[in-house]
Amino acid sequence: MEALTNRSKAVDRRPMSVWEKAYLPEIAKGMGVTLKHFFKKKPTISFPEETRPFSPVFRGLQVLNRDEKGRERCTACGLCAVACPAEAITMEAAERKQEEQHLYREEKYAARYEINMLRCIFCGLCEEACPKDAIYLSETFTPANYKRESFIYSKQDLLIPDPVTEPELYKKALGDRAKKS
Ligand code: SF4
Ligand code: SF4
Repeated sequence: MEALTNRSKAVDRRPMSVWEKAYLPEIAKGMGVTLKHFFKKKPTISFPEETRPFSPVFRGLQVLNRDEKGRERCTACGLCAVACPAEAITMEAAERKQEEQHLYREEKYAARYEINMLRCIFCGLCEEACPKDAIYLSETFTPANYKRESFIYSKQDLLIPDPVTEPELYKKALGDRAKKS
């Protein structure tokens, strides 16, 4: 029969010699491969003690941003929810009261803001759609969990620490973003 490619090899059906039956050359060859890899640099790392540098375009857990006075930037305009292809964002708007001016930057704020991380595909469109620089995707992974409901992140889970009252935590949450800005 005519071969379709020239890659086929005829099977060697000669009886094995005593030397071949001992499999020693093959064992030595296998050990050689193991030894070669033994001295190579390990491709694995001991996560989470060690971490690899993130790609500059890495998109992780969303963070709700505050301004330099610690006020929530989000004005509950809903643009992020409309832009979200996974329909992962839910919010309820509320009117800011006179005595709440130190809490919210705009006259409206998100009384409730939730992201369903089981739906989120980390596309970053919410960040792009936001006119207030109120949401960004950080370099943090969404932590693993055993319960589905634990993946509904509330506003309190997403809000960045207050830069006025918790400057250290705020800086830590900003991470490399602080260096870039
Ligand atoms: S990253 Fe994409 S999928 Fe996730 S909440 Fe934002 S817009 Fe929706
Ligand atoms: S995060 Fe931005 S886009 Fe989304 S509701 Fe708040 S202000 Fe609007």
